[in-house]
Formats: sequence, structure tokens, C-alpha cells
Amino acid sequence: MNTEKSKKAFDEAKKYIPGGVNSPVRAFKNVGTYPLFIEKANGSKIYDIDGNEYIDFVGSWGPMFLGHGKTCITDAVTSAARNGLSFGAPCIAETETARLITEAVPCVDTVRMVNSGTEATMSALRLARGFTKRDIIVKFEGCYHGHSDSLLIKAGSGAATFSAASSAGVPADFAKHTLVLPYNDIDALKEAFKNMGDKIACVITEPVAGNMGVVPPKEGFLQTIRALTREYGSLFIVDEVMTGFRLSPSGALGLYGIDADLVTFGKIIGGGMPVGAYGGKREIMEFVSPSGPVYQAGTLSGNPLAMAAGAAQLKYLKTHKNIYGEIEKKGAYLEKEFNLSAEKHGIPVCINRVGSMMSIFFTETPVTDYKTACMSDTERFKKYFNEMLALGIYLAPSQFEALFLSDAHSSEDLEKTVQAFDAVMNIL
Ligand SMILES: *Cc1c(COP(=O)(O)O)cnc(C)c1O
Repeated sequence: MNTEKSKKAFDEAKKYIPGGVNSPVRAFKNVGTYPLFIEKANGSKIYDIDGNEYIDFVGSWGPMFLGHGKTCITDAVTSAARNGLSFGAPCIAETETARLITEAVPCVDTVRMVNSGTEATMSALRLARGFTKRDIIVKFEGCYHGHSDSLLIKAGSGAATFSAASSAGVPADFAKHTLVLPYNDIDALKEAFKNMGDKIACVITEPVAGNMGVVPPKEGFLQTIRALTREYGSLFIVDEVMTGFRLSPSGALGLYGIDADLVTFGKIIGGGMPVGAYGGKREIMEFVSPSGPVYQAGTLSGNPLAMAAGAAQLKYLKTHKNIYGEIEKKGAYLEKEFNLSAEKHGIPVCINRVGSMMSIFFTETPVTDYKTACMSDTERFKKYFNEMLALGIYLAPSQFEALFLSDAHSSEDLEKTVQAFDAVMNIL
């Protein structure tokens, strides 16, 4: 596959953009190559500027759950655009999107629109702190909740109570308010609440981790967070930015039958436009400005184009719930065929999958948390990624990301993917 134009475009981009990209993982650094510059996308396919066609399993990192160029969404956006791009004043589409979210997710009474998942989690944290009048937040190692200061924190070496910033530029004074625990570790969670439960403002988690590769919650993990937060007067924030409207019509909350105090959204609710949202129980959300003392605002929040796209996608999902069953079948097919092929060629893999989210870890060890995810053979992943790409399969360029299925993937796409996988396993 010739990708010379992308190579040149990347060199040019690097002159004007730090690292040549506007979000780090796009640089393909982990897989030892340069990114493809994309010209267009349609349905399940994505096309680079050299004219190559790929089956897309990134889906813009999650939003394109219905595939690219879905007519009901592009029509909604173009017709909204003709009426003006932004007003900075209320518009009907905001209420419509908010209503669609609250109707789908039972524990969300009201919802505030923002412009990204990062903004959603950052604002939900401030709200949790303002509501509980406590400072400490608990997050889990390997979960990603965007790049705000309080959340770019990793477990420090030594005792679990000492956390450290995972990015330069985050003051140690911020890091000390974030406690990082291992994902799926119920005992560590109980211990933390025993020690400082009355100081914990909230626990935030990905209900199914997707940002260390896909790691499902262990039986009882989410339920224990719910029980402990309730017992100690802390809030439970479920970050559904990736899983919302993906794992079921009511997200992971619906799939696992979990209740949360606050829920954050992004990705699918924007249909490909820059959108995030946070919502939850009315008495908590009433703490948000202008009704309450917790400040949060946005010049472009609830933007009419973004709301038109989001509402169109959510309305489509509401009236086509069969998509969830169909996408589960597609995922089960890929998982089964990938496992068979890897086994046939003697390649040790651990495949984790929940519905349309899946990861192939190159390790024999079951992956249940960040530590076990890190046991994967990333050199082998690198080769796997590049060989798949050469066969026209566009995967996330990191061992620690998910493969996303969309409604647009056809059985022909999946068969072709399985054939490519088998050819790659043969030479890995
Ligand atoms: C992508 C993601 C975010 C951040 O969203 P952005 O729109 O990239 O800021 C937050 N939480 C989770 C779980 C995500 O997957």
C-alpha cells in the first residue's frame, strides 16, 4: 500500500502542530510509523489521501456507532447549519438532546451539555466536590477520563495513598487529592473507604474500561462502589463517555443494572460533533450554576449543529434498538474467529469483549486490570497492527485501545477482517 502522501503531509503538519497531531495517539508513535491522513469516510470504510480504502474499526474513537456519513445525521447538521452556526442563546435542539438522554438513562434527571468528554468529567468532579464539600476523589489505574489536572494521576510507587501526576504540569498539590486504586480491586476499595471514607467526594470509573484496552468489570465491582459511596455519603460518577449508548440503549448502567449519582457522556451523543455532557440526580444537578453555587459555562456549549447531530443519532438509536443485538452477534463472531485463528497459529492472546468493544491483548494472562494489561507483548502488537493495516484493516494504533464495531460493518467486512487476521497470525 502506497502512503507517500500521508508521510509528506505528516512532515508538513509537524512544522505547524506539536508532534503533527491534535491528539497524541493519532501520531502512530506506539506502532513505529506515521499516521494516515484521512480524506473521507463512508459507512464502514475510511479513505486516506493516497486513495487507499480501509475497513475502519476506530470509528473516530467511538462516536461513529452508526458508521460514517449516516444520512439522517448529515442531513440534520446541514439543515441546522443553514440556520446559523452558533447563537450563544438557548435553542430547541438542546432540550431535545437532553430529553433523549434523560429518557434513556433512568438515573439522569437533568443534563448539562459541554464540548468534550474531558469537560464533562472535569465538571462532574467539581460538582461532586461542591455538593459533598469534600476534596478527595478516587479513580482507578488505567481508566482514562480526559486530561483535566485531577484526573491525570497515576498510582505512585509505594503505598496506595500516594499518587503522582501522570503528566508534567500537574501540581503535586492537585495529585494529593486523587487516590488511584487498581481496577476491579474490591478489597483496596473497601480499605480506602475504611481509612478515609468521610473525606471522599466521589468515585469515578469507566464501567467497562476501554482506555487500557477493554477490561470488563468483575462481578460485584460496580455494585461495591455503589454500596460504599452510598454508605459514606460520597457520589458515584460513572464515566459513560465511551460506553454510553454503545453497550445498551441505556449504556453500561443499563447493561449491568447499576445506579449512579452522576453520569458523564461524550462520543456517541455528539454523532461525530464535539459534544460532552454530564447529568444525574436532580438534587445534585441543581448545585450547578445558575441554579446553584458550582460554576461551569461554555461559549459553544449546546451548539446547534452539535445538538442536531447528537439528537439525530440518539433518535435513530431509540427507534432501532435491534442494532444492539446485531452488533453483539458481529462482536461474538469476530471474537470466536480471532480466538480460533490465534490458537491455530500458536499465538497467545487474551481477547476481552463487551458488545461492540473488544481488545486483543498479546498475553496468556487474563487481563483484569492495568497491571495485567501491561503484561502484553507490545512489540508483537506493533507488528500485528502494521500487517493488518497493510491488508486494509484500520485498527487503533495501540495495544491499550479498543476495537470498535459499528452498525455499518457488514458480514463481508467482518469476513475480510477475519481472513486478514488469520494471514497475520500466520506470520506473527
Ligand atoms: C474519550 C474519553 C474521555 C475524554 O473525552 P474527550 O472528548 O476526548 O475529551 C473521557 N472518558 C472516557 C471514558 C473516554 O473514553
